[in-house]
Amino acid sequence: MKTEKSRQLYMEALELLPGGVNSPVRAMRPVGLEPRFITRGDGSHMIDVDGNEYIDYVGSWGPLILGHCHPAVREALEKTLRDGTSFGAPSPLEVELAGQIVRAVPSVEMVRMVNSGTEATMSALRVARGYTGREKIIKFAGCYHGAVDSLLVHAGSGVATLSLPDSPGVTAGASADTILAPFNDLGAVSEIMDREGDQVAAIIVEPVAGNMGVVSPADGFLQGLRDLTLKFGALLIFDEVMTGFRVAYGGAQELYGVTPDLSCLGKIIGGGLPVGAFGGRREIMETVAPAGNTYQAGTLSGNPLAMAAGLATLAELRAPGVYEALEAKSLRLADGLTKAAAGGEPEASLNRTGSMMTLFFTAGPVADFNSARTSDTGRFARFYQHMLSAGVYLPPSQFEAAFVSLAHSDGDLDRTVTAAAEFFRRGE
Ligand SMILES: *Cc1c(COP(=O)(O)O)cnc(C)c1O
Repeated sequence: MKTEKSRQLYMEALELLPGGVNSPVRAMRPVGLEPRFITRGDGSHMIDVDGNEYIDYVGSWGPLILGHCHPAVREALEKTLRDGTSFGAPSPLEVELAGQIVRAVPSVEMVRMVNSGTEATMSALRVARGYTGREKIIKFAGCYHGAVDSLLVHAGSGVATLSLPDSPGVTAGASADTILAPFNDLGAVSEIMDREGDQVAAIIVEPVAGNMGVVSPADGFLQGLRDLTLKFGALLIFDEVMTGFRVAYGGAQELYGVTPDLSCLGKIIGGGLPVGAFGGRREIMETVAPAGNTYQAGTLSGNPLAMAAGLATLAELRAPGVYEALEAKSLRLADGLTKAAAGGEPEASLNRTGSMMTLFFTAGPVADFNSARTSDTGRFARFYQHMLSAGVYLPPSQFEAAFVSLAHSDGDLDRTVTAAAEFFRRGE
Protein backbone atom coordinates (compact mmCIF):
# COMPACT_ATOMS: atom_id res chain seq x y z
CA MET A 1 0.00 0.00 0.00
CA LYS A 2 1.50 3.32 -1.11
CA THR A 3 1.53 6.06 1.49
CA GLU A 4 4.02 8.63 0.12
CA LYS A 5 1.53 11.43 -0.44
CA SER A 6 -0.06 11.02 2.99
CA ARG A 7 3.41 11.01 4.50
CA GLN A 8 4.38 14.20 2.68
CA LEU A 9 1.18 15.99 3.75
CA TYR A 10 1.66 14.81 7.32
CA MET A 11 5.18 16.26 7.43
CA GLU A 12 3.84 19.57 6.14
CA ALA A 13 0.89 19.43 8.57
CA LEU A 14 3.19 18.77 11.54
CA GLU A 15 4.73 22.21 10.91
CA LEU A 16 1.37 23.93 10.70
CA LEU A 17 -1.05 22.13 13.01
CA PRO A 18 -0.28 20.78 16.50
CA GLY A 19 0.43 17.09 15.97
CA GLY A 20 -0.50 17.54 12.31
CA VAL A 21 -4.23 17.24 12.99
CA ASN A 22 -7.25 19.20 14.18
CA SER A 23 -8.46 16.55 16.64
CA PRO A 24 -6.04 14.26 18.50
CA VAL A 25 -7.27 10.75 17.80
CA ARG A 26 -7.05 11.26 14.03
CA ALA A 27 -3.25 11.24 14.34
CA MET A 28 -3.21 7.41 14.75
CA ARG A 29 -0.54 7.61 17.45
CA PRO A 30 -2.20 4.98 19.69
CA VAL A 31 -1.69 2.41 16.92
CA GLY A 32 1.81 3.55 15.98
CA LEU A 33 0.94 4.79 12.50
CA GLU A 34 0.88 8.03 10.59
CA PRO A 35 -2.51 9.34 9.48
CA ARG A 36 -3.85 8.79 5.99
CA PHE A 37 -5.09 11.97 4.34
CA ILE A 38 -8.53 11.41 2.90
CA THR A 39 -9.72 13.11 -0.27
CA ARG A 40 -13.07 11.52 -0.91
CA GLY A 41 -15.80 9.42 0.63
CA ASP A 42 -18.30 7.34 -1.29
CA GLY A 43 -20.90 5.23 0.53
CA SER A 44 -19.05 2.85 2.84
CA HIS A 45 -15.65 3.69 1.34
CA MET A 46 -12.99 6.38 1.76
CA ILE A 47 -10.18 7.10 -0.68
CA ASP A 48 -6.88 8.67 0.41
CA VAL A 49 -4.42 10.95 -1.41
CA ASP A 50 -2.39 7.95 -2.57
CA GLY A 51 -5.46 6.38 -4.14
CA ASN A 52 -5.93 3.66 -1.48
CA GLU A 53 -9.53 2.69 -0.86
CA TYR A 54 -10.79 1.67 2.57
CA ILE A 55 -13.99 0.23 3.99
CA ASP A 56 -14.71 2.89 6.59
CA TYR A 57 -16.02 2.08 10.09
CA VAL A 58 -15.28 5.53 11.54
CA GLY A 59 -18.00 7.34 9.61
CA SER A 60 -16.59 10.70 10.69
CA TRP A 61 -16.83 9.37 14.28
CA GLY A 62 -20.54 8.74 14.10
CA PRO A 63 -22.43 11.23 11.95
CA LEU A 64 -22.35 9.28 8.68
CA ILE A 65 -25.00 6.67 9.43
CA LEU A 66 -26.05 6.86 5.76
CA GLY A 67 -22.47 6.53 4.55
CA HIS A 68 -20.34 9.12 2.77
CA CYS A 69 -21.80 11.59 0.33
CA HIS A 70 -25.34 10.21 0.42
CA PRO A 71 -27.31 11.58 -2.57
CA ALA A 72 -30.19 12.88 -0.41
CA VAL A 73 -27.80 14.82 1.84
CA ARG A 74 -25.82 16.16 -1.10
CA GLU A 75 -28.95 17.31 -2.89
CA ALA A 76 -30.32 19.02 0.22
CA LEU A 77 -27.01 20.84 0.68
CA GLU A 78 -26.81 21.91 -2.95
CA LYS A 79 -30.36 23.24 -2.89
CA THR A 80 -29.88 25.11 0.40
CA LEU A 81 -26.50 26.51 -0.63
CA ARG A 82 -28.01 28.44 -3.55
CA ASP A 83 -29.87 30.68 -1.09
CA GLY A 84 -26.90 31.50 1.11
CA THR A 85 -24.79 29.98 3.83
CA SER A 86 -25.73 31.87 7.00
CA PHE A 87 -28.05 34.69 7.99
CA GLY A 88 -27.53 35.41 11.68
CA ALA A 89 -31.30 35.57 11.85
CA PRO A 90 -33.90 32.85 12.34
CA SER A 91 -34.51 30.66 9.30
CA PRO A 92 -37.17 28.03 8.56
CA LEU A 93 -34.94 24.93 8.59
CA GLU A 94 -34.09 25.45 12.30
CA VAL A 95 -37.74 25.17 13.23
CA GLU A 96 -38.15 22.13 11.02
CA LEU A 97 -35.19 20.24 12.53
CA ALA A 98 -36.23 21.24 16.07
CA GLY A 99 -39.68 19.79 15.33
CA GLN A 100 -38.19 16.53 14.09
CA ILE A 101 -36.01 16.21 17.19
CA VAL A 102 -38.88 16.96 19.56
CA ARG A 103 -41.07 14.36 17.84
CA ALA A 104 -38.28 11.76 17.95
CA VAL A 105 -36.54 12.09 21.32
CA PRO A 106 -38.81 11.32 24.29
CA SER A 107 -37.21 13.76 26.78
CA VAL A 108 -37.06 16.73 24.44
CA GLU A 109 -39.88 19.29 24.43
CA MET A 110 -37.68 22.24 23.43
CA VAL A 111 -34.23 22.35 21.90
CA ARG A 112 -31.31 24.77 21.41
CA MET A 113 -29.07 24.21 18.41
CA VAL A 114 -25.32 24.63 18.87
CA ASN A 115 -22.29 23.80 16.73
CA SER A 116 -20.74 20.75 18.38
CA GLY A 117 -21.33 18.06 20.95
CA THR A 118 -18.87 19.82 23.23
CA GLU A 119 -21.01 22.95 23.21
CA ALA A 120 -24.11 20.87 23.86
CA THR A 121 -22.79 19.21 27.03
CA MET A 122 -21.14 22.39 28.28
CA SER A 123 -24.39 24.30 27.88
CA ALA A 124 -26.57 21.52 29.31
CA LEU A 125 -24.46 21.57 32.48
CA ARG A 126 -24.83 25.34 32.80
CA VAL A 127 -28.58 25.01 32.39
CA ALA A 128 -28.74 22.20 34.96
CA ARG A 129 -26.76 24.26 37.47
CA GLY A 130 -28.85 27.36 36.79
CA TYR A 131 -32.10 25.47 37.08
CA THR A 132 -31.27 23.60 40.30
CA GLY A 133 -29.14 26.31 41.92
CA ARG A 134 -26.62 23.57 42.75
CA GLU A 135 -22.99 23.25 41.70
CA LYS A 136 -21.86 19.63 41.71
CA ILE A 137 -22.13 17.15 38.87
CA ILE A 138 -21.51 13.43 38.71
CA LYS A 139 -19.81 11.95 35.67
CA PHE A 140 -18.61 8.42 34.97
CA ALA A 141 -15.05 7.27 34.49
CA GLY A 142 -14.42 6.54 30.82
CA CYS A 143 -17.37 8.61 29.60
CA TYR A 144 -16.39 11.43 27.26
CA HIS A 145 -18.56 14.50 26.88
CA GLY A 146 -16.39 16.65 24.63
CA ALA A 147 -13.47 18.89 25.50
CA VAL A 148 -15.30 20.67 28.34
CA ASP A 149 -13.06 21.83 31.23
CA SER A 150 -15.20 20.50 34.04
CA LEU A 151 -15.70 17.15 32.30
CA LEU A 152 -12.05 16.46 31.49
CA VAL A 153 -11.39 14.75 34.77
CA HIS A 154 -9.31 11.71 35.33
CA ALA A 155 -10.64 8.33 36.31
CA GLY A 156 -9.56 8.15 39.94
CA SER A 157 -8.98 4.90 41.78
CA GLY A 158 -12.36 4.98 43.45
CA VAL A 159 -15.44 6.95 44.22
CA ALA A 160 -13.87 8.88 47.06
CA THR A 161 -10.80 9.91 45.04
CA LEU A 162 -10.36 13.61 44.51
CA SER A 163 -11.22 14.67 40.95
CA LEU A 164 -7.97 15.79 39.38
CA PRO A 165 -7.98 17.50 36.00
CA ASP A 166 -7.00 15.30 33.06
CA SER A 167 -5.28 18.02 31.08
CA PRO A 168 -2.90 20.92 31.71
CA GLY A 169 -4.86 24.16 31.52
CA VAL A 170 -7.88 22.76 33.31
CA THR A 171 -7.73 24.36 36.74
CA ALA A 172 -8.40 22.41 39.89
CA GLY A 173 -11.26 24.86 40.40
CA ALA A 174 -12.87 23.93 37.09
CA SER A 175 -13.06 20.28 38.05
CA ALA A 176 -13.59 20.71 41.80
CA ASP A 177 -17.34 20.27 41.48
CA THR A 178 -17.07 17.15 39.31
CA ILE A 179 -17.57 13.87 41.15
CA LEU A 180 -16.43 10.69 39.41
CA ALA A 181 -18.23 7.38 39.61
CA PRO A 182 -17.60 4.01 37.95
CA PHE A 183 -19.91 3.24 35.00
CA ASN A 184 -22.50 0.54 35.65
CA ASP A 185 -21.98 0.78 39.43
CA LEU A 186 -25.29 1.95 40.85
CA GLY A 187 -24.18 1.24 44.42
CA ALA A 188 -21.32 3.73 44.10
CA VAL A 189 -23.66 6.41 42.71
CA SER A 190 -26.13 5.74 45.48
CA GLU A 191 -23.42 6.25 48.10
CA ILE A 192 -22.40 9.56 46.55
CA MET A 193 -25.99 10.74 46.45
CA ASP A 194 -26.58 9.72 50.07
CA ARG A 195 -23.55 11.79 51.05
CA GLU A 196 -24.00 14.91 48.91
CA GLY A 197 -27.11 14.45 46.78
CA ASP A 198 -28.55 17.76 47.95
CA GLN A 199 -25.63 19.56 46.25
CA VAL A 200 -25.73 17.62 42.98
CA ALA A 201 -27.14 19.59 40.03
CA ALA A 202 -26.97 16.69 37.58
CA ILE A 203 -25.71 13.27 36.71
CA ILE A 204 -24.38 13.21 33.14
CA VAL A 205 -23.92 9.88 31.38
CA GLU A 206 -23.44 8.34 27.96
CA PRO A 207 -26.42 5.95 28.15
CA VAL A 208 -24.43 3.53 26.02
CA ALA A 209 -20.80 4.39 26.56
CA GLY A 210 -18.89 4.72 23.31
CA ASN A 211 -15.79 6.60 24.30
CA MET A 212 -14.07 3.87 26.37
CA GLY A 213 -14.96 1.51 23.58
CA VAL A 214 -18.58 0.38 23.55
CA VAL A 215 -19.92 -0.51 26.99
CA SER A 216 -23.65 -1.11 27.23
CA PRO A 217 -25.57 -0.16 30.37
CA ALA A 218 -26.17 -3.04 32.79
CA ASP A 219 -29.79 -4.02 33.43
CA GLY A 220 -31.37 -1.39 35.66
CA PHE A 221 -28.40 1.00 35.61
CA LEU A 222 -30.09 3.82 33.69
CA GLN A 223 -33.38 3.38 35.55
CA GLY A 224 -31.43 3.44 38.82
CA LEU A 225 -29.87 6.79 37.83
CA ARG A 226 -33.35 8.06 37.00
CA ASP A 227 -34.69 7.00 40.41
CA LEU A 228 -31.74 8.49 42.32
CA THR A 229 -31.89 11.85 40.54
CA LEU A 230 -35.64 12.10 41.17
CA LYS A 231 -35.18 11.21 44.83
CA PHE A 232 -32.56 13.92 45.39
CA GLY A 233 -33.94 16.62 43.08
CA ALA A 234 -31.01 16.45 40.66
CA LEU A 235 -31.33 16.40 36.87
CA LEU A 236 -30.43 13.42 34.71
CA ILE A 237 -28.57 14.32 31.52
CA PHE A 238 -28.16 11.76 28.76
CA ASP A 239 -25.28 12.63 26.48
CA GLU A 240 -26.68 11.11 23.29
CA VAL A 241 -24.27 12.88 20.96
CA MET A 242 -23.17 9.44 19.75
CA THR A 243 -26.25 7.31 20.48
CA GLY A 244 -28.96 9.75 19.33
CA PHE A 245 -30.61 8.47 16.12
CA ARG A 246 -27.95 5.70 16.16
CA VAL A 247 -29.05 2.95 18.56
CA ALA A 248 -32.70 3.77 17.76
CA TYR A 249 -34.38 6.74 16.05
CA GLY A 250 -35.25 8.17 19.47
CA GLY A 251 -31.81 7.28 20.87
CA ALA A 252 -30.88 5.19 23.89
CA GLN A 253 -33.76 6.73 25.87
CA GLU A 254 -36.20 5.14 23.43
CA LEU A 255 -34.28 1.85 23.37
CA TYR A 256 -34.07 1.49 27.17
CA GLY A 257 -37.29 3.30 28.07
CA VAL A 258 -35.65 5.71 30.51
CA THR A 259 -36.40 9.42 30.05
CA PRO A 260 -33.80 11.95 31.26
CA ASP A 261 -34.46 15.63 32.03
CA LEU A 262 -31.97 16.93 29.46
CA SER A 263 -30.43 15.34 26.39
CA CYS A 264 -27.37 16.29 24.37
CA LEU A 265 -27.26 15.57 20.65
CA GLY A 266 -24.79 16.03 17.81
CA LYS A 267 -23.16 13.93 15.11
CA ILE A 268 -26.08 12.33 13.18
CA ILE A 269 -28.39 15.36 13.57
CA GLY A 270 -25.87 17.35 11.52
CA GLY A 271 -25.55 14.74 8.78
CA GLY A 272 -21.78 15.33 8.59
CA LEU A 273 -21.81 19.09 9.15
CA PRO A 274 -20.84 20.72 12.47
CA VAL A 275 -23.91 20.57 14.73
CA GLY A 276 -24.89 19.91 18.30
CA ALA A 277 -28.07 20.44 20.28
CA PHE A 278 -29.40 20.13 23.78
CA GLY A 279 -32.97 19.90 24.84
CA GLY A 280 -35.34 18.70 27.50
CA ARG A 281 -38.41 19.53 29.50
CA ARG A 282 -40.05 22.85 28.66
CA GLU A 283 -39.77 24.34 32.15
CA ILE A 284 -36.03 23.66 32.16
CA MET A 285 -35.38 24.86 28.60
CA GLU A 286 -37.32 28.06 29.23
CA THR A 287 -34.52 29.13 31.60
CA VAL A 288 -32.28 29.48 28.50
CA ALA A 289 -31.77 33.05 27.16
CA PRO A 290 -33.66 34.89 25.83
CA ALA A 291 -36.64 32.99 27.29
CA GLY A 292 -34.80 32.96 30.63
CA ASN A 293 -31.55 34.16 32.17
CA THR A 294 -29.13 31.29 31.60
CA TYR A 295 -26.88 32.60 28.85
CA GLN A 296 -26.11 30.56 25.75
CA ALA A 297 -25.33 31.86 22.27
CA GLY A 298 -23.63 31.03 18.96
CA THR A 299 -22.93 33.05 15.79
CA LEU A 300 -23.46 30.10 13.45
CA SER A 301 -25.93 28.09 15.58
CA GLY A 302 -28.80 26.68 13.53
CA ASN A 303 -26.76 27.15 10.37
CA PRO A 304 -28.99 26.48 7.33
CA LEU A 305 -26.56 24.10 5.62
CA ALA A 306 -26.12 22.07 8.79
CA MET A 307 -29.88 21.99 9.37
CA ALA A 308 -30.46 20.84 5.78
CA ALA A 309 -27.94 18.01 6.06
CA GLY A 310 -29.47 16.92 9.37
CA LEU A 311 -33.02 17.05 8.04
CA ALA A 312 -32.11 15.01 4.96
CA THR A 313 -30.38 12.41 7.15
CA LEU A 314 -33.30 12.08 9.56
CA ALA A 315 -35.74 11.78 6.65
CA GLU A 316 -33.79 8.77 5.35
CA LEU A 317 -33.77 7.25 8.85
CA ARG A 318 -37.58 7.48 9.11
CA ALA A 319 -38.02 5.12 6.15
CA PRO A 320 -39.54 1.80 7.27
CA GLY A 321 -37.11 -1.01 8.05
CA VAL A 322 -34.02 1.18 8.27
CA TYR A 323 -33.01 0.28 11.82
CA GLU A 324 -33.80 -3.40 11.20
CA ALA A 325 -31.47 -3.31 8.17
CA LEU A 326 -28.77 -1.60 10.24
CA GLU A 327 -29.17 -4.20 12.99
CA ALA A 328 -28.87 -7.07 10.48
CA LYS A 329 -25.66 -5.62 9.04
CA SER A 330 -24.23 -4.96 12.50
CA LEU A 331 -25.07 -8.48 13.68
CA ARG A 332 -23.45 -9.97 10.58
CA LEU A 333 -20.22 -8.10 11.30
CA ALA A 334 -20.29 -8.73 15.06
CA ASP A 335 -20.95 -12.45 14.63
CA GLY A 336 -18.23 -12.73 12.04
CA LEU A 337 -15.68 -10.93 14.20
CA THR A 338 -16.61 -12.94 17.28
CA LYS A 339 -16.21 -16.22 15.40
CA ALA A 340 -12.92 -15.05 13.87
CA ALA A 341 -11.54 -14.07 17.28
CA ALA A 342 -12.76 -17.27 18.96
CA GLY A 343 -10.20 -19.23 16.94
CA GLY A 344 -7.58 -18.83 19.66
CA GLU A 345 -5.08 -16.31 20.93
CA PRO A 346 -5.17 -13.37 21.28
CA GLU A 347 -8.33 -13.41 23.32
CA ALA A 348 -10.89 -10.80 22.43
CA SER A 349 -14.38 -9.89 23.47
CA LEU A 350 -16.87 -7.94 21.45
CA ASN A 351 -19.29 -5.40 22.91
CA ARG A 352 -22.12 -4.10 20.76
CA THR A 353 -25.28 -2.07 21.00
CA GLY A 354 -26.92 -1.76 17.58
CA SER A 355 -24.48 -0.39 15.04
CA MET A 356 -21.84 0.64 17.62
CA MET A 357 -19.26 -1.99 18.52
CA THR A 358 -15.77 -2.53 19.93
CA LEU A 359 -13.60 -5.63 19.80
CA PHE A 360 -11.65 -5.45 23.05
CA PHE A 361 -8.36 -7.35 23.20
CA THR A 362 -9.15 -8.88 26.56
CA ALA A 363 -11.07 -11.95 27.63
CA GLY A 364 -13.69 -9.63 29.12
CA PRO A 365 -16.39 -9.04 30.05
CA VAL A 366 -15.88 -5.29 29.65
CA ALA A 367 -18.42 -3.44 31.79
CA ASP A 368 -16.60 -0.25 32.80
CA PHE A 369 -13.42 1.76 32.28
CA ASN A 370 -11.29 -0.45 34.52
CA SER A 371 -12.20 -3.62 32.67
CA ALA A 372 -11.78 -1.84 29.30
CA ARG A 373 -8.26 -0.94 30.38
CA THR A 374 -7.32 -4.59 30.81
CA SER A 375 -7.14 -4.69 26.99
CA ASP A 376 -3.82 -5.47 25.36
CA THR A 377 -3.39 -2.25 23.41
CA GLY A 378 -0.19 -3.51 21.79
CA ARG A 379 -2.10 -6.39 20.22
CA PHE A 380 -4.87 -4.03 19.23
CA ALA A 381 -2.26 -1.88 17.46
CA ARG A 382 -0.97 -4.91 15.51
CA PHE A 383 -4.55 -5.85 14.64
CA TYR A 384 -5.22 -2.29 13.52
CA GLN A 385 -2.16 -2.22 11.27
CA HIS A 386 -3.15 -5.53 9.71
CA MET A 387 -6.71 -4.34 9.06
CA LEU A 388 -5.62 -1.02 7.57
CA SER A 389 -3.23 -2.81 5.18
CA ALA A 390 -6.16 -5.01 4.19
CA GLY A 391 -8.18 -1.88 3.35
CA VAL A 392 -10.30 -1.71 6.50
CA TYR A 393 -10.33 1.65 8.27
CA LEU A 394 -11.28 1.16 11.94
CA PRO A 395 -11.16 3.83 14.65
CA PRO A 396 -7.44 4.02 15.52
CA SER A 397 -7.82 3.37 19.25
CA GLN A 398 -8.91 0.44 21.40
CA PHE A 399 -11.19 2.80 23.29
CA GLU A 400 -13.45 3.92 20.46
CA ALA A 401 -16.60 2.62 18.81
CA ALA A 402 -16.64 1.27 15.27
CA PHE A 403 -19.79 2.24 13.38
CA VAL A 404 -21.72 0.26 10.80
CA SER A 405 -23.62 2.45 8.34
CA LEU A 406 -26.52 1.74 6.03
CA ALA A 407 -24.04 1.96 3.15
CA HIS A 408 -22.05 -1.11 4.22
CA SER A 409 -22.78 -4.01 1.90
CA ASP A 410 -22.64 -7.68 2.89
CA GLY A 411 -19.53 -7.83 0.71
CA ASP A 412 -17.89 -5.06 2.79
CA LEU A 413 -18.77 -6.81 6.04
CA ASP A 414 -17.59 -10.22 4.87
CA ARG A 415 -14.31 -8.80 3.55
CA THR A 416 -13.77 -7.21 6.96
CA VAL A 417 -14.38 -10.51 8.74
CA THR A 418 -12.04 -12.34 6.37
CA ALA A 419 -9.28 -9.83 7.07
CA ALA A 420 -9.79 -10.17 10.83
CA ALA A 421 -9.85 -13.97 10.64
CA GLU A 422 -6.48 -13.87 8.90
CA PHE A 423 -5.00 -11.91 11.80
CA PHE A 424 -6.38 -14.27 14.45
CA ARG A 425 -5.37 -17.36 12.52
CA ARG A 426 -1.78 -16.17 12.52
CA GLY A 427 -2.06 -15.85 16.30
CA GLU A 428 0.19 -12.78 16.47
C1 LIG B 1 -18.42 13.06 20.06
C2 LIG B 1 -18.97 13.19 21.39
C3 LIG B 1 -19.01 14.44 22.06
C4 LIG B 1 -18.33 15.66 21.51
O1 LIG B 1 -18.88 16.12 20.33
P1 LIG B 1 -18.00 17.12 19.41
O2 LIG B 1 -18.91 17.46 18.28
O3 LIG B 1 -16.78 16.36 19.03
O4 LIG B 1 -17.68 18.30 20.26
C5 LIG B 1 -19.67 14.52 23.26
N1 LIG B 1 -20.24 13.44 23.80
C6 LIG B 1 -20.22 12.23 23.22
C7 LIG B 1 -20.90 11.08 23.87
C8 LIG B 1 -19.57 12.07 22.00
O5 LIG B 1 -19.50 10.85 21.45
